[in-house]
Amino acid sequence: MPSRILVASASCSFWMLFLSFLLILSTLCGFISGYSERDRAHDLMSKYPLIDGHNDLALRLRILHENRLSQIDLHNVSKVATDISRLQAGHVQAQMFAVYVLCGAQKKDAVRLTLEQIDVIRRMCTEYQEMELVTSAQGVKDSEMRRKIACLLSIEGGHSIDSSLPALRMFYQLGVRSMALTHNCNTPWAESSSTLYNDYKRENNSLTHFGKAVVQEMNRLGMIVDLSHSSWDTARAVLKLSKAPVIFSHSSSYSVCNHSRNVPDWLLQELKKNRGVIMVNLHSGFVACRDQANISLVADHFDHIKKVIGAESIGIGGDFEGAVNFPLGLEDVSKYPALIQELLQRNWPENDLAAVLRLNFLRVFEEVERVRDELSGTLPSEVLIPLEKVQSPCRMVLRPPGTGGDRLAPSRAHHGPGGPESPLILAMVLLLSSLFIVY
Ligand SMILES: [Zn+2]
Repeated sequence: MPSRILVASASCSFWMLFLSFLLILSTLCGFISGYSERDRAHDLMSKYPLIDGHNDLALRLRILHENRLSQIDLHNVSKVATDISRLQAGHVQAQMFAVYVLCGAQKKDAVRLTLEQIDVIRRMCTEYQEMELVTSAQGVKDSEMRRKIACLLSIEGGHSIDSSLPALRMFYQLGVRSMALTHNCNTPWAESSSTLYNDYKRENNSLTHFGKAVVQEMNRLGMIVDLSHSSWDTARAVLKLSKAPVIFSHSSSYSVCNHSRNVPDWLLQELKKNRGVIMVNLHSGFVACRDQANISLVADHFDHIKKVIGAESIGIGGDFEGAVNFPLGLEDVSKYPALIQELLQRNWPENDLAAVLRLNFLRVFEEVERVRDELSGTLPSEVLIPLEKVQSPCRMVLRPPGTGGDRLAPSRAHHGPGGPESPLILAMVLLLSSLFIVY
């Protein structure tokens, strides 16, 4: 064989070998970089663990266990997406637990049910040493130093206060630090994004005089106003009025998925002016407007909102337990690092992600507390909702005789047979009315 051919053949083998080496190296690099990106997400979340805006575990505890905590081990709970082991695996350091009562309880026993949901969350967060109840921004930070999961109490739906500012204040005393003004039902003073219920449907209901008093009292108390579930008109009215930044605790972008629970760009702009935060909801129905979604679609919401109002206005509010369908790869609270990995792969800088994970929420909470301090000289509000707006057979009003009680006679019309029309009860009512007039 001529030496020239030998040289050409050797050179060919060399290049083949070199190319194979490059191929193996690039595969290896991809393999390694896949791992390192995943590790990067975990490292970042160890440094800036998540404060999540919304979780309905307490609702599941009521539905599945009638709030009997003794029946379960909160470290590992079946049929739910949230337990202590998975919160820890997902680097969730603080969780706003929703105190949620069905809209059907409005005009009935919503206040009692709200108290029971507060009770179960307080129990959960005191009976397990991995968790603790916190009521301040500093409390969240201290909790992180102690390596605990901080529990924040968050009422979901203004019907929980039964149009009573004293009830709102007492919920604050029990540790509640945020309240969504509505759920899927209007209240007598604010409007929902949903048309599922027919209660309190009328013109100019976006934020009534009493609704404004609720927002102002929340500002005075240092309770975060949550606009998820509110109608856009109500949200706009609140954003004009609130002295403190507000949150959407679990809503996504309307431009990416046209659902009324999501927030349109013009409203995001108002939120930015308020210095508030939108905590992106992961439920497939709000992410993709259908039952199935993936992590990439969730990341599209983050990209879009960042483009419109910047990363300083974004947080995460998973909505686990409140909804059933979640994107592939984000099925439970242990999966949050996969979302952060996706955002890293989309070149989100680490400081933006640190803000999204916890710093933005902490900033809002601290500003809400600062407004509370500024208003510390203001007395508690004594604004009452007009009685004709909240007529219901369950509502009793006590007033001394001779103070115009006859104006409330319509409330008696709700009583059927056996009501005050019955001679015996009528006699008792007349007897009692010598002391008080009862409505
Ligand atoms: Zn919700």
